[in-house]
Parts: sequence; structure tokens; C-alpha cells
Amino acid sequence: MKEQVLKKLQVLADAAKYDVSCSSSGSTRPAQDGALGNAARAGVCHSFTQDGRCISLLKILYTNYCIYDCAYCINRRSNDLPRASFSVDELVDLTLSFYRRNYIEGLFLSSGVVVSPDHTMERLIAVARKLRSEHHFNGYIHMKAIPGSSAELVAEAGLWADRLSVNIEIPSENNLKLLAPEKDFSSVLSPMNQIHQGIELNKEERRKYRKAPRFAPAGQSTQLIVGASPESDFDILRLASGFYKQQNLKRVYYSGFVPVNPGDSRLPAIQKPPLVRENRLYQADWLMRFYQFRFDEILDDRHSFLDPNLDPKLAWALRNPSFFPVDLNAAPYEMILRVPGIGVRSAKLIIANRRFGSITFSHLKRMGVALNRARYFITCRELPLHLRDIDPVYLRRKLSPSVNPKVVQLNLFEHA
Ligand code: SF4
Repeated sequence: MKEQVLKKLQVLADAAKYDVSCSSSGSTRPAQDGALGNAARAGVCHSFTQDGRCISLLKILYTNYCIYDCAYCINRRSNDLPRASFSVDELVDLTLSFYRRNYIEGLFLSSGVVVSPDHTMERLIAVARKLRSEHHFNGYIHMKAIPGSSAELVAEAGLWADRLSVNIEIPSENNLKLLAPEKDFSSVLSPMNQIHQGIELNKEERRKYRKAPRFAPAGQSTQLIVGASPESDFDILRLASGFYKQQNLKRVYYSGFVPVNPGDSRLPAIQKPPLVRENRLYQADWLMRFYQFRFDEILDDRHSFLDPNLDPKLAWALRNPSFFPVDLNAAPYEMILRVPGIGVRSAKLIIANRRFGSITFSHLKRMGVALNRARYFITCRELPLHLRDIDPVYLRRKLSPSVNPKVVQLNLFEHA
């Protein structure tokens, strides 16, 4: 690899690490004769950043120059830092050579904004187009749609990328204006809506014409920064829930605010990203996507922040003792799903197995139910113990992993 490209790689791979909105591939596309690679649900190769985030190995920026000056961003124009830009050919060569060596299974391509949103978007599209049409690259591509770019470019991007994402970043319009004065909600929501419509139209087209080209087959995602502005978890979950319902997003990523620009008075003076809060939001998000919880069940006006000491499902159960005990031999699937310690898989197994006889303690163990939690919330033949008999305050103390003040989150890369 040329030394110049290596230097750019160091600068631009490092600059990309703050964007968490990538994950395993959401596409499945088998290998084809005459094409290079495939896309598999098993996922892009991942690595872990120092602060514990999971990233794909070729997660890179096209450039870290930016015409904008967002308060929370390391790449903002007012920061004095090494800058670099790839050429389209350099990025294509890099992707292909990493792919051929089996270092990566795809490309996550983002960028600072140079010249204009459209100019930047064109460059990103040119990389994906060249990979697909000239090199028949069949691996996974996640591309960032630059807020403010034109509808035509977003439409083209969806034809080359598996997944598109437009980052909302700050969860309220007012605070976005304060922290990123050159951006607004509509520049994010317009491409998001357009991608959503493109995906729906494409589904229709493909029902009629099986060979119609696919548009963003792995859907779209977005990223929210948590803790750079004062929105509550309730506000954040309400926004995310709207994205899932209205724009049918595949994922909302929650990124604990990393204080990369200390001294900016618009930002909170924190030393470390709020990783526990970030983790609780991911758990609450999981409840909305897979456990049929509404955002306003997980939190409400009186409880507007997630409890750092309890996972959100357990916290909900302790606030709603009248819902329990759930009789595992009679309750519907949706109720069983709400029992702390019972996951989607075990809830399905319970429903499937009770057709053949009563569910017992040993069945639950074999199904992987976390009985240390679930046993307080259920009733079945051998498990009469339930919440009605136990003080929720006692239970909260007993089931909370972090009541011991000595328990702290460890850094993955430092010695304990
Ligand atoms: S537009 Fe993106 S890259 Fe530019 S300063 Fe804002 S967040 Fe950073």
C-alpha cells in the first residue's frame, strides 16, 4: 500500500470511529458467477474501539474536512487536526484489497461535508457505483446519506448501497439548532422519508418485476447522540419509536456523547461517555422492537429516565405488580414475553411445549429461562412464588446488579 494512502487510512479510519450506526450486514445475497463476494446476515467483520463500541474493520470516512461546525464533532471545521480525503479510486482499491485478503466483509462509508452536501454525496455514490458496476463487488455496503443532499442523489445511493443511514444526532430540533447551527431536522427527515418511500416502492416493483433493481435492501438506520443535550430517555425513546413506526427504520443507534471538544460551553462538562445510559437505551429499544412494549410503557412523564441499576424490563415489572403473576400454562404469548428473565425464544418454546403438557421448573431451565429473575413473576405447577408475596422494594434490591457501589463498568482495554 502506498505510504500516502496509509496515512490517509490512519486519519480517516480513526475519524470514523465516533459513528456507531453500523452493524452486521442486514442483507443476504449469495455469491454469483463473475461477481466478487457476497453479503451475509452473519455480519461484517467487527472490531472493538477502546470505549467498547463494535465497529466493522473498514469503517471509514471519505474525508474528514467539513464545512460545518457541529459542537459535538471531532471533525468540525474549527478543530485543528490532521485532515485528509481519499480519491474515489483510492477508496475502491482499499476496499477491494481488504476484501480480497478477507479482512472485511463490507464497507461502511461516511464523510464530513466538503463543498456541499450534494458534492459529498456524489463522491460517496461514485465509490459505491465503481465498486458495484466496474468491479462487480457483491459485498455489503452501508452508506451515509448526507443530510441536505438532493432527492436524486439519495435515490441513486439506494441503488448501490445495502443500507443507508441519515444521522439525526441531536434528539430535538431546538438543541440541534444550538449545537449544529447549520443543520436542521428537515434536512435529516426529508432523506429519511425519501428512503422509506423508495424501499416501499421498490417492494411493490419487485412484486411485479422480480428482476427490478433493489433499493437499500437492508433498510435504513440512524444515530442519536445521548447526553450532549438535555433530552430525557423518554424523549429519546419517543423519537426512536416514531422512526420505527413512521419511517420503518431497521435500527436506531444510541451513541453516548464522547467529549471530544472540551471547553465548548454549549456542551455538558463530562469526562466520559454515558455508556451505562447508552446500554439501557439499547435494552429499551430492544423491548420496543422485539417485546411489543410501547415507549410510553417503558417510561412516562413521572419516570423520564431509565434506571441505571435495573434493566428496563425488570424496572417495568416492578412498577406494574398487578400484571403478575403470569401463569405460564395459560397466558398468551404477549404476556409471557413481559416476564423478566424470559426472552423471545423461551416464550415461543413455552407456547409450543405447553400443547404437550404442563410446563415445569425443569422445562423452564432447559429452555434457558433466567429463573433467578423469572420465578418472582410467574406461576406454574411447581412455582407458586410470585410478586404478590414479595415486596417490590426488596425485590428491586435483590435483583439490582449495581447496588454495590464498588461495582463499576470496566474499560475493555485497561487492567482491572
Ligand atoms: S456535518 Fe458531520 S462531520 Fe461535519 S461537523 Fe457536523 S457532525 Fe461533524
